[in-house]
Amino acid sequence: MRLSRYFLPVLKETPREAQIVSHRYMLQAGMIKQSSAGIYSWLPLGFKVLRKLENIVHEEQQRAGHLPMLMPTLQPAELWQESGRYNDYGREMLRIEDRHGRDMLYGPTNEELITDIFRSHITSYKELPLTLYHIQWKFRDEVRPRFGVMRGREFFMKDGYNFDLSKEDALHAYNRHLVSYLRTYERMGLKAIPMQADGGPIGGDYTHEFLVLAETGESEVFYDSKVLDLHLGDREIDFDDVAQCQGIFDEWTAHYARTDETHDDAIYAEVPEERRQKARGIEVGQIFYFGTKYSQTMNATVDDGKGNKVNVHMGSHGIGVSRLLGAIIEASHDDKGIIWPEGVTPFHCGILNMKSGDAEADAACEAIYNSLTALGLEPLYDDRDERAGAKFGTMDMVGLPWRITVGPRGLKNGVVEVTCRRTGDSEEMPPEQAVEKIA
Ligand code: ATP
Ligand code: MG
Ligand code: MG
Ligand code: MG
Repeated sequence: MRLSRYFLPVLKETPREAQIVSHRYMLQAGMIKQSSAGIYSWLPLGFKVLRKLENIVHEEQQRAGHLPMLMPTLQPAELWQESGRYNDYGREMLRIEDRHGRDMLYGPTNEELITDIFRSHITSYKELPLTLYHIQWKFRDEVRPRFGVMRGREFFMKDGYNFDLSKEDALHAYNRHLVSYLRTYERMGLKAIPMQADGGPIGGDYTHEFLVLAETGESEVFYDSKVLDLHLGDREIDFDDVAQCQGIFDEWTAHYARTDETHDDAIYAEVPEERRQKARGIEVGQIFYFGTKYSQTMNATVDDGKGNKVNVHMGSHGIGVSRLLGAIIEASHDDKGIIWPEGVTPFHCGILNMKSGDAEADAACEAIYNSLTALGLEPLYDDRDERAGAKFGTMDMVGLPWRITVGPRGLKNGVVEVTCRRTGDSEEMPPEQAVEKIA
């Protein structure tokens, strides 16, 4: 992409409404624009990262055997009246009446809708296990929308639902989700710790929240510092392997890690003192097993093969895809701007032309741009006729992992400069070698 043809409305001034760094940088880097409280337009750069995160979530869900689908944002009130949550959900639910006087709502989550789909089509245990998911906009009329996309009213969420014959099978689905979520967050360059949590309005016997540690996080958390040493890495995972998923679940839940809602002083006191950590965290996902809570109220049953009709065991599993942008920036930035982890960066590298209009510099930039593109990479080339200082500022704010700086002085010696955004280290080398380094 050539910056001269892109839409990147970088703000010169620090936006006053932003209280935390991720919100500020997302506005400054021209990623989002607020349209009303907690509701944003996603400008090209923000949208690009959102799509990257969405793709990672899709890939990891499907790797775990979960089936993508798409449910609508608007739901009929009847289904929620059936489950009993229409009244319980309270004022966070945006209620709408259509022209025929029918009560509808903008979905804050989809347990009811998916259970209705399930019961309409599935009657036999033979069709289980089944896990369906979608990534769709949700609306929750939050009392205090704030921190940009971190606590929006309209937000993008992956929510998945498993249907199983027995509690045992449903707990495998739970573990499988835990493992696939760990993989998902690791690919995004995040350390998200599963913590024992509280069911809230979704309910449930088993639930874990995934938290990214950050001072600006809204949750108070308590954990054994040993959990920070755990990595999934690139170990081979068979998501149908019950023992393997259980093993990984056990590995991650062996150490104390709880949110303030379930925090227990007595158990925490057993953690060696030097490992006891109290911190703040951002909730980037949550998994639930809630048994037959919805299948009973909404009458979702299957034939168990022995002549009985039994209620299916269910769980639901959410990832805050749009919130993740904020969480990643909170976890990865410096005072000049964002530092994107490789796995989610909107462009692979920046090319900064120090002297646009200089024939030699222009030609060298074009050549680098074409070589990178031919290798399947996406560079962002700042070809604008701007001061070098402004170009550096923009590149630092946008936070691509690598920058190639091209100027007439270096070119005289046959070199360009390659800079790593994270470390700030720069190296001079011939243009071909710069391309190799980034590829
Ligand atoms: P919170 O405690 O932050 O209000 P929640 O527990 O109500 O979140 P869940 O129902 O567990 O949210 O939804 C799944 C995920 O969706 C959350 O883990 C979070 O990452 C994301 N999410 C929830 N509410 C919002 C919001 N208002 N804006 C952006 N993301 C959200
Ligand atoms: Mg909430
Ligand atoms: Mg929560
Ligand atoms: Mg939650």
